[in-house]
Amino acid sequence: MTDQTLIILGASGDLTARLLLPGLGALLSAGHVPGLTLIGAAIDDWDHEHWRQRVHEAFGVPGAKAAAESAGQDTPVTDSAPAASDVADRARWVRTDVTHSDDLRRLLDDAEAHGPVVIFFALPPAVTAKACEALLDVDLPPGTRLVLEKPFGTGSASAAELNALLSRLVPEERVHRVDHFLGKSTVLNILGLRFANRIFEPVLDSTHVASVEIVFDENLALEGRAGYYDKAGALADMIQSHLLQILALLTMEAPFTLAAAEFRDRKADVLRATRLWGEPATSSLRARYTAGDLDGRKLPDYADEPGVDPSRGTETLAEIVLAVDTWRWAGVPFRLRSGKAVGDSRKEAVITFKRPPRVPDGLHGCDQPDRLRIGFGPDHLAIDFNINGPGDPFELDAVTLEADFGQGDLPPYGEVLRGVFQDDPTLSVRADTAEQCWRIVEPVIEAWRSGAVPLHGYPAGSSGPTLPLPS
Ligand code: NDP
Repeated sequence: MTDQTLIILGASGDLTARLLLPGLGALLSAGHVPGLTLIGAAIDDWDHEHWRQRVHEAFGVPGAKAAAESAGQDTPVTDSAPAASDVADRARWVRTDVTHSDDLRRLLDDAEAHGPVVIFFALPPAVTAKACEALLDVDLPPGTRLVLEKPFGTGSASAAELNALLSRLVPEERVHRVDHFLGKSTVLNILGLRFANRIFEPVLDSTHVASVEIVFDENLALEGRAGYYDKAGALADMIQSHLLQILALLTMEAPFTLAAAEFRDRKADVLRATRLWGEPATSSLRARYTAGDLDGRKLPDYADEPGVDPSRGTETLAEIVLAVDTWRWAGVPFRLRSGKAVGDSRKEAVITFKRPPRVPDGLHGCDQPDRLRIGFGPDHLAIDFNINGPGDPFELDAVTLEADFGQGDLPPYGEVLRGVFQDDPTLSVRADTAEQCWRIVEPVIEAWRSGAVPLHGYPAGSSGPTLPLPS
């Protein structure tokens, strides 16, 4: 791989410190991207030394590991290896107002000497759009790649506008819309599980599957992130982005190869066919936590958390039921759900199978449906089914076959960045897919905004409300 330069715009921010630099550190420590030059840019009047110290800390210290873990990033940050240390030692800081073309031009002139450039927008979303506009007046070095964070727009129209703007800067293959769930080893394992085995794929369809749940309930609360979260909420923060990506991997048809174009085409196919199951009033639920005990901690009402504007009515738990109108999946309800401050932390996709057409008379005692459960942290696979257990040979017992699989070598941000540096957009979200993901949740956003769906409360530490699945 040739020498490359990573420019982080917004390098003094939270994302950079907690997720991006630890992921980059792990990637460098594993021997990827030799010869990287790292440039941090923001308005802050830092100097090279201050930035280098921050980079070293994020690459190596236990605090970075703890922060990554508390943010739900489930792969550890390793001690800074020499390759990472070297990048940190050479890192440079360029004070930049990213909304000014002159500043950006100066920044890029500085960077160009060190090989192809990757620009990571770790900026507030509104500033990202302004930075893209300012970049229109700058000659980008050939081969420049742009990396954007969620939320990508605020709806399908604004996502389309941002896509149009980006297309004036670089070709689509060089735009990486990050969804770090696509860098999680368990999420990627869905592909191996489905397409490299004979036993699962033939039963993954509406003939055999009764319902599918994709759940990301966490016992973390706001953890000081009100500034970001109160403007996003559970629907946009988790469902519109990460959980729809998981749905796409669970429901897509097998691509011929995992080349970026085919893989992303297959994902786009199913997302185009995905819609809300029924009316928002019956197919969506929103709630926010009230005061309660969570793992021995006393949490205040969400509305009383520092930095929250209660008038926004932000939900901390969202659930929607979707239909995937393809030949394979038509008629199977998909429940997507994510909540914060939920007592029972559950991060898994659960495929529930229909009961057998007939259980012979005389076999009795257990009628749980078969289930395939894919855990997203800890990484886990389980199959629940019925057997003739010990004792009465005709009495059925429920059993579970389980497998833990180790983490990938890299944390999710490291995995996603590896694709960026290799100029491989496979794990990035394509322009049309970003718009489709908004299109799917837009009826819910509109109904919630108009008050057509009530905002429920649930005590922190409880399991929170849920929707009945359509039968
Ligand atoms: P922060 O507010 O913590 O950081 C934003 C950064 O942008 C700061 O360094 C800020 O500098 C800088 N900035 C703002 N305006 C300008 C400007 N005109 N010129 C140069 N720099 C500027 O945000 P986060 O790091 O939390 O989030 C960044 C992006 O990542 C957002 O899009 C967010 O949605 C996304 N994201 C964040 C996650 C997280 O856990 N934090 C998780 C997933 C996505 P200054 O401080 O000086 O204003």
